[in-house]
Amino acid sequence: MPGEFDLIDRIRARAGARDDVVLGIGDDAALLVPPAGRQLVITADTLNAGVHFPDGTAAADVGWKALAVNLSDLAAMGAQPAWCTLSLSLPEADPRWLDAFLDGFLALAQRCGVALVGGDTTRGPLSVGVTALGHVAAGAALRRDGARDGDGIWVSGSLGDAAAALSLLVGGDTATVGKADAGGLRERLDRPEPRLALGAALGGVASACIDLSDGLLADLGHVCRASGVGARVDVDRLPLSDALRRAAPDPARRRVLQASGGDDFELCFTAAAGRRDAVLQAAAAAGTAVACIGEIVAGSGVQAHAGGLPWTPPRAGYEHFDS
Ligand code: ADP
Ligand code: MG
Repeated sequence: MPGEFDLIDRIRARAGARDDVVLGIGDDAALLVPPAGRQLVITADTLNAGVHFPDGTAAADVGWKALAVNLSDLAAMGAQPAWCTLSLSLPEADPRWLDAFLDGFLALAQRCGVALVGGDTTRGPLSVGVTALGHVAAGAALRRDGARDGDGIWVSGSLGDAAAALSLLVGGDTATVGKADAGGLRERLDRPEPRLALGAALGGVASACIDLSDGLLADLGHVCRASGVGARVDVDRLPLSDALRRAAPDPARRRVLQASGGDDFELCFTAAAGRRDAVLQAAAAAGTAVACIGEIVAGSGVQAHAGGLPWTPPRAGYEHFDS
């Protein structure tokens, strides 16, 4: 059985490099050179087996997702990613599992130009903690507290695919989600695409931004609270993938998955009504589809409508420690 340091050596051999990493894996801490005049952006997210990914998820997919959810937070700040750390709790020192995990983790890191500069390796229940670091021009970060009455509400990509895959896997929801489409949906659950190009392009365009991890209505609620405003969302305008249209033919079921299902890792952002063309230009430059789904209103709370009538989801979103 290899020990902790053999595992760290395997990680170190593949960690990737950047000119601004003075010292990476191997010392007591890493030394990094942030670009002059930019603000450092730091985020951390942990994935626990059975909570954030289904038991039995392929190691490479766990690796991809662990980094992706963190890069999604950087995207939602409009930040450019640069470095990350990785804290691994592993039930056993299995080098094959680690190599496969690194295949997924480092494929995304390389694609996004992120260097792995440190971490921690311990024995325990399977858990993956990542800290991602990036930077943004001073004052240009996309925050949750900038939404204003009259702003349009936008989302990227499409919503509900990951929630459909999860309900198929964990909830055994085979009645409404066809097995034939599970493959495409499962990809959305296991391999979310952090919307980094869009987040960066929205600097100076969006008034507020959040990434969707707990479900659209719940996450938009965070923007509303931080901004001191309310929101009206037209559930019928939520962008829908062909895979979800085929997999969940019942529109009522689909609305629930799209409005309150989690794990989308799309961006939800607001922009002044007069910035509509700028939003579309930013989306085109980033190569990411966006859709306007409602507007910010005075007051508080998120009101959803479907078919012109008020619509309430059975559950607003995912919260840890919910009973
Ligand atoms: P220390 O005891 O000083 O914290 P460790 O033995 O935990 O050092 O780690 C040795 C080096 O390996 C450090 O540079 C640390 O950042 C790095 N490291 C440990 N585990 C990981 C990991 N899972 N991923 C990346 N780097 C790691
Ligand atoms: Mg340590």
